[in-house]
Amino acid sequence: MFKKILIANRGEIACRVLKSARKMGIPTVAVYSDADRDAMHVELADEAVHIGGAPASESYLVIEKIINAAKAAGAEAVHPGYGFLSENAQFAKALKKAGIAFIGPNVKAIEVMGDKIESKKFAAKAKVNTVPGNPGVIKDEKQAIKVADEIGYPVMIKASAGGGGKGMRIAHTRDDVAEGFRASMSEAASSFGDDRVFIEKFIVDPRHIEIQVLADAHGKCIHLGERECSIQRRNQKVIEEAPSPFLDEKTRQSMGSQAVALAKAVDYQSAGTVEFIVDKDRNFYFLEMNTRLQVEHPVTELVTGVDLVEEMIRVAAGEKLSYGQSDIQLNGWAVESRIYAEDPYRNFLPSTGRLVRYQPPEEGVDENGLVIRNDTGVSEGGDISIYYDPMIAKLITHGPTRAAAIDHMAKALDSFYIDGIGHNIPFLADVMKRKRWRDGKLTTGFIEEEYPDGFSPRTPSDEERDAMAAIAACLDHLGNERRREITQQMKGQNVSFVEARVVRIGGQDLHIRIDGGLGEPSTVRLLNDKGDTRASMVVASDWWPGMAVWFGTVDGSEKAVQVRPISNGYDLSHGGIHLPVYVYTEREAELAALMPVKALPDRSKFVHCPMPGLVVRIDVKEGQAVKTGETLCIVEAMKMENVLHAEKDGVVAKINATEGDSLAVDAVIMEFE
Ligand code: ADP
Ligand code: ADP
Ligand code: MG
Repeated sequence: MFKKILIANRGEIACRVLKSARKMGIPTVAVYSDADRDAMHVELADEAVHIGGAPASESYLVIEKIINAAKAAGAEAVHPGYGFLSENAQFAKALKKAGIAFIGPNVKAIEVMGDKIESKKFAAKAKVNTVPGNPGVIKDEKQAIKVADEIGYPVMIKASAGGGGKGMRIAHTRDDVAEGFRASMSEAASSFGDDRVFIEKFIVDPRHIEIQVLADAHGKCIHLGERECSIQRRNQKVIEEAPSPFLDEKTRQSMGSQAVALAKAVDYQSAGTVEFIVDKDRNFYFLEMNTRLQVEHPVTELVTGVDLVEEMIRVAAGEKLSYGQSDIQLNGWAVESRIYAEDPYRNFLPSTGRLVRYQPPEEGVDENGLVIRNDTGVSEGGDISIYYDPMIAKLITHGPTRAAAIDHMAKALDSFYIDGIGHNIPFLADVMKRKRWRDGKLTTGFIEEEYPDGFSPRTPSDEERDAMAAIAACLDHLGNERRREITQQMKGQNVSFVEARVVRIGGQDLHIRIDGGLGEPSTVRLLNDKGDTRASMVVASDWWPGMAVWFGTVDGSEKAVQVRPISNGYDLSHGGIHLPVYVYTEREAELAALMPVKALPDRSKFVHCPMPGLVVRIDVKEGQAVKTGETLCIVEAMKMENVLHAEKDGVVAKINATEGDSLAVDAVIMEFE
């Protein structure tokens, strides 16, 4: 076995790989850029080597620097994680030349599978079902239209070197093809330095289902079942699960054997993933093979019990696979949510900054056998910088059934507390409540179809509203009790009396009576207009002022609610609901009703910078009249270009930024008349 391993990555995946190495007793070496001096992966590793500037192109992507670091530290093998150099054949070659083992497949497999055109041809030869379409490079618009006409609409135009959902366009008409061809080509050239594109049939309402394979250097290859990754935004996965609620045993077996056949055809070794697109009749077609550890590998680990990273390390060291196909059993269900630094209330724009608070749910197995796993690379006080992937963590749950895993995920998300930056937890929590998700009726269009107008916090049902109001009243009640404790006035006298409160929630005033002493459940009654009790509930919790998450029960049903104190109340969030709740005494409520409502400033005349970023292009001039939807400017942040459009017709009065400017969030880029 290797005496030392270097991990050529950062963030959660570097930490993930470190864990398996540590379990196997292998010392580890981390590498880090200027931006990652204090990062978790550096702290966790046995040794760390500084490799350069913050931009990945000056550090994590520089082959020579990684190899020098490995040599200097005496590492015998390198694990690349995902992204960065993980699917770079030059890197694998350079390591080989330096006599260092690459914990991944052979160079040929990376080369063939790294190219969508080549891999599709190769898969067809290995008798794997491929998406109908033309397997060649498209030269110009004329040929693009001809090929699209032959395939039949809709079609998908794709960059051969593509990855991460980039460089692909759907075309429904000839005009779309011309435009999509140009767009794919230029995106491919700028993102991948390779402008070859091809065209295939667009599979309508498809599901994304992929097979995990594992192979050794001695000719043995097995599959570990499937993962379904249909919940995507902009062709990027957001929620994944294993197994898929859609597959029957027969389809699973035939997808599994095609995946294994393909892996064998490229002499694959290590862990890899064969991605398929599946139509509503369970026809499946090969999309691509990812020759690395996949972001969503933990769901497979939880249902199979196999440590994929450990197997990758063993295989790279020349060991035989210790599992046969019949050893692989799928147990229960696992779901993964990708927690991204992006603001769901602002069209998922990337968000950067300091994690002022970062309190993930506790990992482990509970008394019912339900599992929470949190793969992360950050801790409280850490930074989410503009330089790298905006993923903060991957939250994974496992249970005996799909419903149990989803319920556990909902609870875990409700108790995952992050402050300081925008994040998508409210959105993920909302998905967990959606009927269509719970029914497993998925397609890759799920998010677009379920959230046609983007995401906004869910309006609570009357029952949910009452429960939130009751919890808010209890929070306030406890706060009062604690003040009495602190002043020692009532110390030792277990007093219990009824308090009257008015809870303002979602524009309504609820009159409440709350009863119960410190440390015991409270009985909360909600009154109707006549002052009679219309509902009554028992609220119990160990919450104490200052705690970020309220865990407790309302009439015996468990809940986790995030609590952020605001003036006169609390900002509460739970299950995709997120709203301020004010708690007043009856007299305060009377007075509060008389307070003038502060008018919000009119922001509609200004174009604000949606996140800290770089102005790449300004498309309009002062004095120019623009129409709704017209492009105003482009701001780049976290490797993504964000196009800002005019929200209404108007005339540009003043432009405050120029191309190349670095702007703070909410900086006014331009003003309208
Ligand atoms: P997965 O199927 O595992 O989600 P993705 O294709 O979404 O894989 O990519 C996984 C990671 O690799 C992401 O962090 C993404 O940003 C990165 N990535 C994917 N393709 C490339 C590429 N060509 N160059 C650099 N990073 C990439
Ligand atoms: P990447 O390398 O960026 O991951 P993929 O080829 O794996 O590219 O495609 C990413 C996603 O795009 C898929 O998960 C699927 O949602 C969608 N997609 C790709 N090809 C097709 C197709 N032919 N028909 C329908 N959807 C597709
Ligand atoms: Mg893919």
